[in-house]
Amino acid sequence: MPKTSPRFNILAAATSWDPSRIDGERERRGVPPPMRIEEIFGENTFGLAQMRARLPKQVFRRLCATIEQGLLLDSSVADAVAIAMKEWALEKGATHFTHWFQPMTGFTAEKHDSFITPNVGGGAVAEFSGKDLIQGEPDASSFPSGGLRGTFEARGYTAWDPTSPAFIVETPAGAYLSIPSAFASWAGEALDNKTPLLRSMHALDVQTQRALKLFGAAPARVLATCGPEQEFFLIDQEFYYRRPDLVTSGRTLFGAKPPRGQELEDHYFGSIPNRVLAFMMEVERKLYRLGVPVKTRHNEVAPGQYEMAPIYENANVAADHQQLTMLELRNSARKYGLVCLLHEKPFAGVNGSGKHVNWSLGTEDANLLDPGETPHSNMQFLFFCTAVLRAVHRHQDLLRATVAHAGNDHRLGANEAPPAIISVFLGEQLTEILEQIETSGSATTSREGGLLGLGTPVLPDLPRHASDRNRTSPFAFTGNKFEFRAPGSSQSVSFPTTVLNTIVSEAIGEMCTTLESELESGSVFEEALRRLIAHEVADFKRIIFNGDGYSEDWPVEAERRGLLNLRTTFEALDTLPSEKNISLFEKSGVLSRRELVSRHEIALEVYFKTINIEGETTADIAKTMILPAAIRYLNDLLAVADRMGTLGIESRGTMRMIREVNDLVDDFSEKLAHLVEQNAELGGETPHSKSRHMQENIIPAMQEVRGVADRLEKVLPDDVWPLPTYRDMLFVK
Ligand code: ADP
Ligand code: MG
Repeated sequence: MPKTSPRFNILAAATSWDPSRIDGERERRGVPPPMRIEEIFGENTFGLAQMRARLPKQVFRRLCATIEQGLLLDSSVADAVAIAMKEWALEKGATHFTHWFQPMTGFTAEKHDSFITPNVGGGAVAEFSGKDLIQGEPDASSFPSGGLRGTFEARGYTAWDPTSPAFIVETPAGAYLSIPSAFASWAGEALDNKTPLLRSMHALDVQTQRALKLFGAAPARVLATCGPEQEFFLIDQEFYYRRPDLVTSGRTLFGAKPPRGQELEDHYFGSIPNRVLAFMMEVERKLYRLGVPVKTRHNEVAPGQYEMAPIYENANVAADHQQLTMLELRNSARKYGLVCLLHEKPFAGVNGSGKHVNWSLGTEDANLLDPGETPHSNMQFLFFCTAVLRAVHRHQDLLRATVAHAGNDHRLGANEAPPAIISVFLGEQLTEILEQIETSGSATTSREGGLLGLGTPVLPDLPRHASDRNRTSPFAFTGNKFEFRAPGSSQSVSFPTTVLNTIVSEAIGEMCTTLESELESGSVFEEALRRLIAHEVADFKRIIFNGDGYSEDWPVEAERRGLLNLRTTFEALDTLPSEKNISLFEKSGVLSRRELVSRHEIALEVYFKTINIEGETTADIAKTMILPAAIRYLNDLLAVADRMGTLGIESRGTMRMIREVNDLVDDFSEKLAHLVEQNAELGGETPHSKSRHMQENIIPAMQEVRGVADRLEKVLPDDVWPLPTYRDMLFVK
């Protein structure tokens, strides 16, 4: 049998991408070379510049008041905007428009409508009214609602979000206008990820303004800012489509660890392979045109793993742009013969992928979490920093729940991602300042960074940061923002951000209440503030952990401190609808009790369905691909033994192989039978009991089957093994 078995072709994968194809295509089509960023940036969005140029001054000003200050939109404005937006979209070649929304699947959804309306004369005109812009009504009974809506109540509304710019989606076959929208039920309950995010941004705005007033400032608006870093894997499509597990579940359910994984640490920050770089540049170009400010790109730790990150933006726009980034990553890969894997753990044994959510809050011109040079004297910074710490300490469960889904269970607490314990890395400088305030009521010094000499006169001295970095913390202060590192790579950033906004707005509000009542009873502001911070520090300080989050001692220490350690999705999700959390969300107006309970239900449903698919796929591949391959090989060996016996040749080696393979086949079919049995069980009636069945029975049964399969992979001949291996997938670039 040739080395390139008909099942998959490594050589084809390695050579299928010809760089000249891209250049040649450009020449053939007379496409000009890439343009300057500042010329193409945002050209496919109906942003402020386009609006200013196309809208009557009056309308533009009123729209700006909504976008910049969050004021209520006047419906007469919508008609004027609709006309201008339609003209612009038609000029860009769009034939259709869609409300683009984010149902609770974590993905985006759209339903296209043509601009075309027939006219009396038998022709057609392009129409698009203010009403079309503001409201859509997809028949959306098939989107998850977690009990908020029966299937007989099909009505769902999408509502234009004027604070996130509409954009043109270009495809090889044509273009359409996409309008970022919220999605709600007939009763006005949120069925999406955008609505609560916008509500939480409003809550944060209100409470932060209240606090800033105490500090003597009155900004027009406070915004949550978000900069999400995206990690992902790229593999050749040749392999992807020959792995039913990747196709159905996004991760490999089988696969022995290759002799070489990421041990040499030569991939991280290494030079980006040409094919991958060409792909990334195309993704970036498309994103620039959509106004997404992608900034950095590099190789990540595992072979075949990469990262892209944008410049931060207001959290609502950032969340939309993050969705666009995932879409473009997935869509553009095919042109390069690649498939982009956004799953948290496509490959066991090498690092998984996360999505670090950098978060802060700021006014038009100041980042409120920027400590400045002398944080000890920056009381306003210390106030907001304290609020974040108070919030994280009180709502560890909730933060953990926002990152709880099946894919992330493989990652959290493994040796590549923060543990499932929520703690905060603050760095020595800030920790020392807070300690000073706690013990003596005030802080008088800040540890300084100073200069870092590199030991040779030819290299410049570098300014050193006052604190080192810590990659092992799930929630780290990184100089002028917090970085939430637990979210998974496939996840929407909306819910983690919504929760951050909500819990911090609650903390700010409560701290304001204390300060305001102290001021009323005649206290001096500065003194009241110091007392408040000292009191808070004493309360939350057990959440601060500057040590190694990957160490074995940490879970023990965390337990001693009384911190939560919710190891699995199943455990973490159960904390979601607690009375504490319901009251938090209701008070802030972010989610009603029903909305929160429905989110819990949906998360459980997604969890058990995900594992159920994995369980079925594991059994399928085991039964129809791996077991037959093993038996075929056994048959070959037996034929050899038979002939040797006939010829009277002793066959110790062959007999040994026969016994080894036969034992593995026995073991494998036993474990497979157990998995099939478990798959047949429903696990009860509710999403909760079904999820428990997945966690307690299906996952272990799958692991058992995989364990034997991975041993078989190391024994079966290369040309008999029915799946592309880790070595193929991770190293052919
Ligand atoms: P670092 O040195 O910590 O990597 P970078 O400036 O490279 O910092 O930022 C890393 C990520 O954090 C980027 O995606 C960036 O947009 C984001 N970021 C920076 N400042 C803020 C902020 N104020 N709010 C939210 N995200 C931010
Ligand atoms: Mg980072």
